[in-house]
Amino acid sequence: MKSILQVRIEPHQFRKRDIIGGDPALDFVNTVTGRDQSPRDWLDSYPRLLEWAAFVHLLPKRVLRALAEKAQKEPAAAAIALVRAKVLREALFELVTRIISRRAPTKSSLALLREHWIAGIKAHELRFGGGRVLVDLRNDAFDFDLIASTVAYRMVQQVLPLPMDRLRICQGPNCSWVFIDSSKAGRRRWCDMTVCGNAAKSRRFYARSRQPRSAQRPQHPAKMRTQTILRPGR
Ligand SMILES: [Zn+2]
Repeated sequence: MKSILQVRIEPHQFRKRDIIGGDPALDFVNTVTGRDQSPRDWLDSYPRLLEWAAFVHLLPKRVLRALAEKAQKEPAAAAIALVRAKVLREALFELVTRIISRRAPTKSSLALLREHWIAGIKAHELRFGGGRVLVDLRNDAFDFDLIASTVAYRMVQQVLPLPMDRLRICQGPNCSWVFIDSSKAGRRRWCDMTVCGNAAKSRRFYARSRQPRSAQRPQHPAKMRTQTILRPGR
């Protein structure tokens, strides 16, 4: 899905409630919120990308510290890497939403994912320990693109093997966050019930209350009580 809406880039302090995807690869896609109405991009700088990576524990702290120092010395190269990461992010959003709507991802999004995934593989090494072969991040993997390649690596190794009928996009207004529904019943519709679930219910309530009385469907009294305590969205 290509958006023609203007994206506003804004500073953001990441909080627990921003991490709802079920995997950092999906949470990375969710660093843009409100894609359906008024998109806001929370990655306003490379250091912010590092803050996000630290918040979701994408990479070890020593690696993120090394990248932060490198970004101070080479801000222009870091800024270019941020742009590349965002191009991947938009390709992943397209890929995920196409899978959700049972359409094949575009060749270009698959090619871009593959490119970053291979870089992610190259950033890892195999070693033997504790009687088994282990996959570890290489000690010299301090490339500015490491965050994007780690996201791609996770997307391919961790997310795409999951049952794809559990991949969801939030049904709330001005959200469009994506997530894996790991609930037992598999009926999760919202990123967060207290944010988007209530906002959507509230919107439906207002839509109904603006109709002439005769057009309104009769409601169960218990349901009406819950609607009076609804909170606005994010
Ligand atoms: Zn939502």
